[in-house]
Amino acid sequence: MRTPFDPLLDRAHAHASEFLRDLPDRFVGARASRDEMIAALDAPLTQHGEDAGVVIDLLARNAERGASACASPRYFGFVIGGSLPVALAADWLVSTWDQNAGIHVISPITAAMEEVAARWLLDLFDLPRESGVGFVTGCQMAHFTCLAAARHGVLRRAGWDVEADGLNGAPRINIVASQEAHITLDAALRYLGLGTRSLVHVESDEQGRMRADHLHNVLSTLQGPTIVCAQAGNVNTGAFDPLREIGELARERGAWMHVDGAFGLWARASEERRALADGIELADSWATDAHKWLNVPYDSGVAIVRHADDHRDAMTSTAAYLIQTRGAERDAVDWVPEFSRRARGIPVYATLRALGRDGVADLVDRCCARARQFAQLLSADPNVRILNDVVLNQVLVRFGDDDELTRAVIAGVQQDGTCWASGTTWHGLAAMRISVSNWATSEEDVEVSAAAMLRVFRSLLG
Ligand SMILES: *Cc1c(COP(=O)(O)O)cnc(C)c1O
Repeated sequence: MRTPFDPLLDRAHAHASEFLRDLPDRFVGARASRDEMIAALDAPLTQHGEDAGVVIDLLARNAERGASACASPRYFGFVIGGSLPVALAADWLVSTWDQNAGIHVISPITAAMEEVAARWLLDLFDLPRESGVGFVTGCQMAHFTCLAAARHGVLRRAGWDVEADGLNGAPRINIVASQEAHITLDAALRYLGLGTRSLVHVESDEQGRMRADHLHNVLSTLQGPTIVCAQAGNVNTGAFDPLREIGELARERGAWMHVDGAFGLWARASEERRALADGIELADSWATDAHKWLNVPYDSGVAIVRHADDHRDAMTSTAAYLIQTRGAERDAVDWVPEFSRRARGIPVYATLRALGRDGVADLVDRCCARARQFAQLLSADPNVRILNDVVLNQVLVRFGDDDELTRAVIAGVQQDGTCWASGTTWHGLAAMRISVSNWATSEEDVEVSAAAMLRVFRSLLG
């Protein structure tokens, strides 16, 4: 028997197949602007509605022009990542099942898969197995969750219950981070009432790594509860802070160490890259993304906190009607800021199960190898300069040692459509950023993309 879902799901499936078939070779940027999309889509809300099948077709027709191919193997902007087939398929089931993943009584399957996926992640990253784990929307909310636990933990040790008494009259918390901290850290500090003005910045070196000697000096001037925020994977260079030194300094001072490992934490899964993150296990909390390097669909991040009690105390919600059992069962509401929520741990479970340890390591290693390939192909041109040590999946490229020319190459590459890369400013110099974060990016994709970049560059040179 066909249900009312079938005709629409069949249509959605056909559209999805077509989109995915065209994805590897299509124009990589968006072909229509926001204004053009508004012109195509905006209309008064109808009184009586429209045929649902026609609506689904309308979505698909407009995605062709209005969606950028950011899941394409030739999309190198920001740090994005595509979706592995198994991850996308699992995500479809999550939407189909429509579980409220907040408490295990509603969804035992989600509770179980998230519990197991949490254990697998701690194992894969080789982090303390007793840590609390929360499946959140992204690294932004992972920062928020981890730093809420940190706020709770450092104030508890100072004899202050922030959950009950808030921050009015609380001991002041020092927050220390490198100049290169990601902007989402600032946002998390704002959400938590800690503000950004109190942030003490530590100098970083030419690769964007926090200078441990400067951290030492900064910490020696600070009294009281302190949180040190380090980074595994600079968003421009991919560089790692000296995590062992930072960890040791933080421990000496009794400070809480938090790590932004949005993509860099995945280096722990690779034999070859592991050493970059040496000492990361000394931290108290770790924020990462699954929608970047694990290649699950948006949105998916992970908050990990060594001190599970601090994590839980900072996040927990209880109410008489919820039927929570404070036993062995895990209720997601205790570990994340959300209450009702999507079962976003399920695609993580499915992907880890399908890839295994070797599969994740291979995914990381392949992206790193493609990044090196980019650096090699591009720097073969004497007028192209690679600005960073390519230690991970990020490459910074400067064309003709000229800001304007470099920006023109970036714009030209985006218009060319073979691939897509974005720009940045690194130590005062305009640069193209290339981030290789997609499971499907092949050597040929890199060859074709590097050739397109050089073609645009040479045509601008005249
Ligand atoms: C992407 C990124 C973030 C933010 O992650 P979201 O998933 O977008 O919230 C934070 N830090 C670094 C280093 C990142 O690359």
